[in-house]
Amino acid sequence: MEPRLKALLDEVRAARGTVLALTGAGISAESGIPTFRGSEGYWVVGSRNYMPQEMATKEMFDRRPDEVWRWYLYRFGVCKDAAPNAGHRALVTLEERLGDRFTLVTQNIDGLHRRAGSKRVFAIHGDAAWVRCAAECGLGRVDQPDMGRRDAATPFTAADRKVLSCPRCGGWLRPHVLWFDECYDEENYAADSALRAAGAADLVLVVGTSGATNLPMQIGEIAFFRRVALVDVNPEENPFSELAERSPRGFHARGSACALLPEIVEAVGDRCTVILDSGIRRGSDIVKALGLGAQMVLVGRATLYGTACGGQAGAARAIKILSDEMERSFGYVGARNVSEIGPHIFAGRSA
Ligand SMILES: [Zn+2]
Repeated sequence: MEPRLKALLDEVRAARGTVLALTGAGISAESGIPTFRGSEGYWVVGSRNYMPQEMATKEMFDRRPDEVWRWYLYRFGVCKDAAPNAGHRALVTLEERLGDRFTLVTQNIDGLHRRAGSKRVFAIHGDAAWVRCAAECGLGRVDQPDMGRRDAATPFTAADRKVLSCPRCGGWLRPHVLWFDECYDEENYAADSALRAAGAADLVLVVGTSGATNLPMQIGEIAFFRRVALVDVNPEENPFSELAERSPRGFHARGSACALLPEIVEAVGDRCTVILDSGIRRGSDIVKALGLGAQMVLVGRATLYGTACGGQAGAARAIKILSDEMERSFGYVGARNVSEIGPHIFAGRSA
């Protein structure tokens, strides 16, 4: 791994920082899902060829709901056939290691993160697994009915129309996806939650997105202006890699998510929380335990002895002795504070 990237990730790991991963079409491309923004997304209605940016609109749905549904049923079929890849799995591992210090924000509607096992996912462009009432009658989000395998030539029938009717008001059900002529919101797309997570993140890890839409770009800019670590994983130059290259704490990791993410996750993710609660006699023992990987050291015995000898003042004295000894140990190993304690303090071990 590049030393600069390693240093950034080590910092986040040492500080037990929070991580926001932002993913886009690039991570799913390696599972065989096209972006549907190029020629593979074109759709013929009547004698006209429609661009994906014209199909995925409320305006088109209002005009030709049957055609928009035909297009989506074909696209959703492609998503259902795809399986999560090493990039998706790496982010599951990161969540398992960081717990609530991890948030995943995805632009992908294919549900592959969810199917891989990610739990804290904000699907800011929706998720193909669900539908909702197009008239927003209060039905809420329901599972997309299973309509069998569709390809681009499958016709739309009266039976399909019935299956895609709102059970509450009888109007059309619509895919639970954000269309080009619609705005982000919290209720359907968790937009505020995603921005809040960006405002709290110590590392923003951008994977396989070109930043074409505005909420993802805002997340990148928040990271840039807060001067937190900003790592862009993408084989190509893009607006996020430009931000990362301009940021003092940014890095453009040029390559595919499948190839790079497992290594990045290994560098930033803790395996578990280690709490040492035994054998502490001196402040130097605390420093040794932290250097060996403990995140927390319990010192009940010393304070109990102090309390037994001198009450509250005795406990305070015991804590003072331990902390003075810690300070001295910091000096011996050349550290200014706890965050600079690591395996490197031991002779013969490298960081
Ligand atoms: Zn309805």
